[in-house]
Amino acid sequence: MPARLLDFARAALGDLVAPLRCAACDEKLRTRSLLCRCCADTVERWRGPDDPWAYAQFGGALAQALRRLKYGARPDLGESIGQVVAAALPPCDIDLVVPVPVPYCRLVERGYNQAALIARPIATRLGRRLEPLALWRAEGVKQASLGREERLANVRGALAVRRPQAVRGRRVLLIDDVSTTGATVQACRSVLLEAGARGVCAMVVARAGSPLEGSASLDAHGTHEVHGGHLW
Ligand SMILES: [Zn+2]
Repeated sequence: MPARLLDFARAALGDLVAPLRCAACDEKLRTRSLLCRCCADTVERWRGPDDPWAYAQFGGALAQALRRLKYGARPDLGESIGQVVAAALPPCDIDLVVPVPVPYCRLVERGYNQAALIARPIATRLGRRLEPLALWRAEGVKQASLGREERLANVRGALAVRRPQAVRGRRVLLIDDVSTTGATVQACRSVLLEAGARGVCAMVVARAGSPLEGSASLDAHGTHEVHGGHLW
């Protein structure tokens, strides 16, 4: 059998014969799920402000699974993580799904955009089109040393809407893996709105920081509804 055909057969069969394993600790699983019971117990659902809406607090086994997806050459975890989040997502009235882009050089290095992999099963579940290339991001200055406002300006300067015709007049669901300061999501939202998007709501798999942070401004807007509410 030619080598390529053999590889294909292995890949196709792998899912059937290889044992299912926990995305964080590699424990064998009896049923198809993202995490083993022990690791699942470490996941804390996000109960804070919902812009962006988040599935969970960043930490524990979910953080480990996200790190493996991003840095451990495990693109397969994107689909599994996306499925878990899709099942928990509150109703949202959107036209298309757009992942937050990774800087171009990191895309080349990693070979995939983890946010796009997570976004795929979410778009499928919502029955909406995925536009993985709608946004483009150049390499900006390293974010770690910057404050929140500087981060925002830095990301915004590096972002471009590559396919404005795809977003004009549409309601967009923006998806990312992790949000720390929210600067990336906010920068993506503003370039999408500038390009003519009718609205942008955002969701991430995990948010870093305390759920209580930002609750004062949330009160001021009177939008307490978090989980089980509506994104729009
Ligand atoms: Zn586990």
